[in-house]
Amino acid sequence: MKKHVKAVCLLSGGLDSSLAVRMMLEQDIDVTVVNFVGPFGACAGDRENSPAQSVARALGVDLKVVPFGEDYLEIIRNPRHGYGSNVNPCIDCRIYMLKKARELMEEGKASFVVTGEVVGQRPMSQRAVTMRQVEKASGLDGLLLRPLCAQLLPPTVPEEEGWVERDKLLGISGRSRKELLRLAEEWNVTGFSSPGGGCLLTDPNFAVRMKDLLAHETLTFDAIDLLKVGRHFRLPRGTKLVVGRNESDNDRLAALSRDSDTVIVTESCPGPTAILRGGSVPEEEDLAASIVTRYSDGKVEGNATVRIKTPAGERMLDARALAADDVRKLMI
Ligand code: SF4
Repeated sequence: MKKHVKAVCLLSGGLDSSLAVRMMLEQDIDVTVVNFVGPFGACAGDRENSPAQSVARALGVDLKVVPFGEDYLEIIRNPRHGYGSNVNPCIDCRIYMLKKARELMEEGKASFVVTGEVVGQRPMSQRAVTMRQVEKASGLDGLLLRPLCAQLLPPTVPEEEGWVERDKLLGISGRSRKELLRLAEEWNVTGFSSPGGGCLLTDPNFAVRMKDLLAHETLTFDAIDLLKVGRHFRLPRGTKLVVGRNESDNDRLAALSRDSDTVIVTESCPGPTAILRGGSVPEEEDLAASIVTRYSDGKVEGNATVRIKTPAGERMLDARALAADDVRKLMI
């Protein structure tokens, strides 16, 4: 009789990891299903009611949600293995998640870790050579099972020990999702996220903002949250201005503002909420007010009355809208 074996399975909520968990259930593995939650989405989900939750419910397993810690920020700042095409440190990010998974494996007395990786699916982190490198660097040498492509890789300890049957594992490679989708249908795996909800670090526009942040500010989860909202400007003295694009941005900016920020809103007409961060001086507040006016209903008249609330107090200003070309020059 096969012995009772426990494994830690990483579940992002995407198709691949959902199938990998399903395959382990099929092989009677006692799974601890873990969803890492990071600030950028993709391999690590970012929403409470996430696809990972839906998949776990559909598969009838409990989901352990593990948020990334402050130590993750060091990986973004200084990735040992460099960035991919944008500011995505995929190799170090995978190593980070797998190290955490190894800790959970050890704590829970599980025997191995499972991921939904498919060899050749991603240019940076899912090449066979990189997958091996990640496995070793995370301290999971031989203990990392990738059931979707296991037959294309050397046998792991779980296969050699007979904890899982290698014959029932798959040999899928490449970027096509056709076979994976067919399996999801056959196995009735539902609730996974659709492709395209990618990691923000791989988004070229977000990468520009992130590079600017790394060059000028301290990287914190707060600062990252702010990157996801509104239009961003770097003013001449190095302060950052973030201007809401719509009501939802305005509400979010109000929620994200700190006591040390300067908050600017238009009073004489509808307009955006804006945050000036990094210590402001009156000339720069005035410049920020001119940019805010450019995005308010006051742009038709060319001016607006603006309320500027600094940590030191509040003042009103009749601001002139900055010329569109000048606004563009300051935009990140
Ligand atoms: S795409 Fe890369 S950087 Fe983004 S979460 Fe996945 S592994 Fe990490």
